[in-house]
Amino acid sequence: MLFTKLRNFIIEILFPVFCLGCRKEGMVFCSDCLDKIEINNKPFCPVCKFRLANDRSFVAPAPQDDNLVVNFHRNCREKTNLKKLIAAVSYSDPLIKKLIDNYKYQFIRELNQPLSQLIIKSLNFPDVRHPGNYKEKQEINKKLPDLSKFIITAVPLHKRRLQWRGFNQSELLGEKIGQQLNIEFKDILKRNKKTDPQVKLSFEKRKINMEGAFVIKNGINLHKKIILLVDDVYTSGSTMNECAKILKTAGAKEVWGVVIAK
Ligand SMILES: [Zn+2]
Ligand SMILES: [Zn+2]
Repeated sequence: MLFTKLRNFIIEILFPVFCLGCRKEGMVFCSDCLDKIEINNKPFCPVCKFRLANDRSFVAPAPQDDNLVVNFHRNCREKTNLKKLIAAVSYSDPLIKKLIDNYKYQFIRELNQPLSQLIIKSLNFPDVRHPGNYKEKQEINKKLPDLSKFIITAVPLHKRRLQWRGFNQSELLGEKIGQQLNIEFKDILKRNKKTDPQVKLSFEKRKINMEGAFVIKNGINLHKKIILLVDDVYTSGSTMNECAKILKTAGAKEVWGVVIAK
């Protein structure tokens, strides 16, 4: 214990950490900078990426959910296996790009903390951790969806990618979100084959490239569950769409795409 403290103290002196936003010393991304980031608090259509009309992302499932179905663009619905897309921020913001690049390519895994906070804010989940008084608590409970219906999972990495980075960036986000919102995180999907890097491919080729890329781990039943599928960035959506397809064949009722940025 003492040794760990001492070791951390020495590491901090030798290798001071500076905030990626304001350069303040002490942490990789400070809470002041985190608070300044503007969050999308409405879900998006996974196909055309326009905002969906309902203003609460994390609403109780059916029957209240019926108006969501109406809100989902009719022409887009048949083109995706995702129910909706929750993207906390925009990837066109240079600061967001910097954070995600540092997380994924400089291997700063501590960034899972602030990045998962952005997602949690965007999920608009009623905060039950600090209910003020009895009446407020009652109000919150009324709004709260049935948590046992939800499962969080992450887009898996290929084994070689995982070895190279040392961690699955989406899984670390999913675990943090699960801990904070009190929703079970489950490791469900497995990569079935090596795919070509999506960046080099056209939209159509990306879709074909992803076909058959994932399988469900043995013995997992998702009957009637709503899956929050976590990834870092949403571009063409073909990876998430393929994951969602497989999750639905295992019984999932709905799959929501949940990402830091789009
Ligand atoms: Zn800062
Ligand atoms: Zn649409």
